Amino acid sequence: MNLSGQSFVAGNRVSRGKATFHATDAASGSPLDPPYSAASVEDLSDAADAAVQAFGTFSRTSTTVRASLLRAIAAGLEARSSEIVVRAMAETALPQARLEGEVARTCGQLRLFSTVIEEGSWQDARIDRALPDRKPLPRPDIRSMLVPIGPVAVFGSSNFPLAFSVAGGDTASALAAGNPVIVKAHPAHPGTSEIVASVITDAAAQAGLPAGVFSMLYDDGFSIGQELVAHPAIQAVAFTGSLRGGRALMDIAARRDHPIPCFCEMGSLNPVFVLPGALAEDPHSRAKGLYSSFTLGAGQFCTKPGMVFLPETEGSDAFRRELRSLTAASSNFTMLSKGITDAYHRGLAERVALGVRSAGAPEASAPQTYAVLFETDLEGLKGNALLHEEVFGPSSLLVTWSNREELLKAAEALEGHLTATLLGTEADLAANQDLIAILEQKVGRLIFNGYPTGVEVSHAMVHGGPYPAASDSRFTSVGTRAILRFARPRCYQNFPQEALPEALRNENPQGIYRLVDGVLTRDAW
Ligand code: NAP
Repeated sequence: MNLSGQSFVAGNRVSRGKATFHATDAASGSPLDPPYSAASVEDLSDAADAAVQAFGTFSRTSTTVRASLLRAIAAGLEARSSEIVVRAMAETALPQARLEGEVARTCGQLRLFSTVIEEGSWQDARIDRALPDRKPLPRPDIRSMLVPIGPVAVFGSSNFPLAFSVAGGDTASALAAGNPVIVKAHPAHPGTSEIVASVITDAAAQAGLPAGVFSMLYDDGFSIGQELVAHPAIQAVAFTGSLRGGRALMDIAARRDHPIPCFCEMGSLNPVFVLPGALAEDPHSRAKGLYSSFTLGAGQFCTKPGMVFLPETEGSDAFRRELRSLTAASSNFTMLSKGITDAYHRGLAERVALGVRSAGAPEASAPQTYAVLFETDLEGLKGNALLHEEVFGPSSLLVTWSNREELLKAAEALEGHLTATLLGTEADLAANQDLIAILEQKVGRLIFNGYPTGVEVSHAMVHGGPYPAASDSRFTSVGTRAILRFARPRCYQNFPQEALPEALRNENPQGIYRLVDGVLTRDAW
């Protein structure tokens, strides 16, 4: 593997920044070669200028060209899969099988978006034909569709070095819609990012696309990322990461002279409600399922169940005992980085100081860590704002309750989360319609008798939710609807046929579904 340690600016490898940093071997803590140069402000400016230039051409390329680009990126990733996995294993300590799965997920995601744009109906073409004889006023011919928004800045997270990183869902959906992308590489996996960026750069060149369609910048701090969001060329931001990071970028995007949308997918506690029927039926398997979910991947998932509401009812003691003993017997975990381990240990210490620890022994030092279960009741939860914050790592908080009115109040007091889970029977669901109605207002995805970790990449998936889970609850960052973040509606009034985009012409050359005079149809005329 030949890594250069340089940023990618419109097809060229550059290293004009002065500061350098190294990737770290996540398991041993030792530095990995090569040193990475932070991008300079000039690099950022060149990438932005090239993206603006590329936008003119790329936004008008046929869907066939864009779909081929996405498929070529997928094929390139597959061809270099073993190299990617080896480097990602070193940089993240994630196991080989997980990373191979993530390469497959990333390629599947790219190919899914290629099918979406080839099918074409995502453009939401609408045609209101002219009504020249309408009284008292004639109606003009009005047609509209979604069009690309402009250069998009992408910030990936550390815990998905592929699927939510350089060629992840944000890049795939932004390119699919016809937008150039500038990635701010995550410093926790710069080598993995470099290999993936070279695959995208090669695929764009082979497709004959303008080089500015893709750039990737390294940074050893926040400045390049923040300047990227503030740069006038950037028209939208996609961020996956912490609430603190996402909020900082949202504020920059909003303060610009020309504010832009900043789509941030952030941390979440993903509350789980264990309902009485589940406890009466099988408390042990529910506790095992929950333990597996909150420790999966060392708890480093934004969908980790971090808060579990447990009624004091038949089976709750057995459930609690099982969860405590699984947590106490848990083996150690290696986390993604020393920074994440330290943050996890800080979060644990803050909660231990509240006197809420119930199981899990702190017998590891960074980058190794351990599972911890905390316990409190509704009163304890109400009195501690800290308990509503995400602790990124293998820990969860059990909240016991005996008064249902108080439980509903606690549910009302929840902030926005990515998911809420109900473990129970169908009779439980029927008896908890009021709880469900509250949760529907709080989350992007409701799960019945499953666990929130594991986010399918599909047409119907919603991975988002009300703030602070995400910056804009109307959108999702996973699934094919993610493309809608990077498109805007544009309307043409009284335009002649030959001056219209293909999707809006009478003959419907793309054969897509369109809303013609209010009726969804693929008809041409
Ligand atoms: P992070 O620390 O927020 O970093 C994400 C990216 O944003 C990095 O490139 C980081 O750069 C940059 N960044 C962070 N703060 C910034 C600031 N103030 N200004 C400019 N750039 C900033 O997140 P992470 O630790 O990589 O990932 C873990 C978090 O992501 C967890 O909270 C997890 O729940 C969340 N997550 C959410 C989802 C989702 O879909 N909702 C998915 C995965 C992970 P530096 O590294 O240089 O600081």
